[in-house]
Amino acid sequence: MNDEIKSIHEFDLELICQYYSTLERQGPGSPEITIKALSFIDNLNDTSLIADIGCGSGGQTMVLAQNAQGKITGLDIFPVFIDQFNTNVEKLNLQGKVKGITGSMDALPFQEEELDLIWSEGAIYNIGFERGLKEWRKFLKAGGYIAVSEVSWFTEERPSEIEEFWEDAYPEIDTIPNKVKQMQKAGYVPIATFILPENCWTEHFYEPQVNAEKIFLEKNASNKTAVEFIENQRHETELYYKYKEYYGYVFYIGKKTKKIITNH
Ligand code: SAH
Repeated sequence: MNDEIKSIHEFDLELICQYYSTLERQGPGSPEITIKALSFIDNLNDTSLIADIGCGSGGQTMVLAQNAQGKITGLDIFPVFIDQFNTNVEKLNLQGKVKGITGSMDALPFQEEELDLIWSEGAIYNIGFERGLKEWRKFLKAGGYIAVSEVSWFTEERPSEIEEFWEDAYPEIDTIPNKVKQMQKAGYVPIATFILPENCWTEHFYEPQVNAEKIFLEKNASNKTAVEFIENQRHETELYYKYKEYYGYVFYIGKKTKKIITNH
């Protein structure tokens, strides 16, 4: 194991995309959990507009499409993922209901108050939880919903090894009550919060990577960056198994407050 553990952002982006595009999901989650989160959303009909931000190749978007009313736009910064996304749309015959577009979450191409629901699994960290909640709010209709999953601490204190790992990878990691407070302060009523079960990491995220890592290493055997990237992935996986009672992914579901009332 190398002494210096690198942040994912330091690796060659093209390599990372190549690796993740061989996986069905690019973050922890599962179809059951997408459906569970969706069960808290009660404002959708055939004319509803939904955005799935940081959709990746669309694992969760297709589940949403098969279980929610309305039209869905999946947005991701990487064209490789969007190509795969749109291939999946066609395979599942979801044209007309779902489309994937390339774009960035810090410059969303939507109209103000246009969306009924903003969805984002394992991706809001790219802009930051608080900033994403604040900036995306204007695109929602009053009474519209936001549903995001985000890595969070389960306890007030943690062993220093895992604390240091996450403080370096994502300093905005925080406890669930603090995240809920941030959601409320950003102008949403916190509707529901629940922890993703362990199988969202194990069965649906880390286990499929065992084979993906093998294929990736065979393809890129002579590439030092690729080898280091996989070492890094393996280290992150080991940390998860070692410290999973201290952190995990949490779904946060909020409803846009009608208006902010100021008392004089
Ligand atoms: N929602 C998917 C992917 C999560 S991984 C899933 O749960 O499987 C995070 C995703 O965010 C990646 O697909 C990555 O390409 C995307 N991403 C990173 N920065 C972004 C940005 N600035 N704008 C839009 N998408 C971004």
